[in-house]
Amino acid sequence: MSQPEPVAIGIDLGGTTFAVGALTGQGELVCHHSYLTPETKAPGDVLDALVQAVQTVDQQTGSRAVGLGIGIPGVVDPGSGFVFKCPNLPALDNTPVGPAMENRLPDLQKRQQKWLQAPGRPAPPTKRHVWLHNDAYCATLAELRWGAGRGAQNMVLLTLGTGIGGGVVLDGRPIRGPRGLIGEIGHMTLDPQGPPCGCGNRGCFEALAGRDAIVDYALRRIQSGRPTVLTALVEGDLSKLDPKLIADAARAGDQVALEVMQQVGFYVGLGICNAIVLCDPDLVVVGGGIAAAGEVLFAPLRRTVAARSRISYGKFDPARIVPAALGNLAGIYGAGQLVWEGLG
Ligand SMILES: [Zn+2]
Repeated sequence: MSQPEPVAIGIDLGGTTFAVGALTGQGELVCHHSYLTPETKAPGDVLDALVQAVQTVDQQTGSRAVGLGIGIPGVVDPGSGFVFKCPNLPALDNTPVGPAMENRLPDLQKRQQKWLQAPGRPAPPTKRHVWLHNDAYCATLAELRWGAGRGAQNMVLLTLGTGIGGGVVLDGRPIRGPRGLIGEIGHMTLDPQGPPCGCGNRGCFEALAGRDAIVDYALRRIQSGRPTVLTALVEGDLSKLDPKLIADAARAGDQVALEVMQQVGFYVGLGICNAIVLCDPDLVVVGGGIAAAGEVLFAPLRRTVAARSRISYGKFDPARIVPAALGNLAGIYGAGQLVWEGLG
């Protein structure tokens, strides 16, 4: 009797919501759901909510999960499964999340053991059944294996959102470095006199091209009296301005919004120029909510790279800067993929 095809469960954990899905070894996301993250100081409450969601997805997919991967929005030791710091979810600070989840999900271990068992042979010892990694690592792994980065050996991923994060792939593997700093590309200085950044520095990439910066570029133009459809789009309430509205207006041809996107694209292009000389990528993948702006962002950023990355002439083609493919599902794909890489 043949066994059912196993799945890996992936959790993309966030401070307000978390998403859970089941991923096959061939990269098919069988199902996925979103849940509210409990507001609590007790780590056990968070872990119980995760276990419940895992069991729901497992039952829904026919009880064939053989492992769980979790993308953590913070500092984690993937070896021990220990979470050191989780700024948006402090209940998990200093918690052995990996071992605690393994204890709560013994069925996954039993199933994995059965699955790994060759016919006629005793079951081999299981490796482990819960894997953890930083969320940026998971997003990078996801795009590399199942998204826009498939087949790339060397890749840089940028995620543009409230903050700017990223990941680096060298020789076919995502790398984070001994202190987990590789990929913290949002905090490279692009303008020494630039605006203050949340990290305490000023003029960081993130402070110049993150969500608040984009809104600020539009606000300044509106407040200087420039005519723009943005004023009507927010119905006079400028607190409603956000990057999506600005990108929509730019695509519709609004001059002010186009200028804002050019300014953002310029800074993103500078960030990519720096990443190119540091990482020598075959491919640069740009994801995150702000990347959904499309050509109004990609055209100016490719122009900036073409004009400024002089040393890479003939070596890096700006057309190799592409949008991410998995959108906000990248976190689940990457977390599930942790299991397959761990078992592989
Ligand atoms: Zn910074």
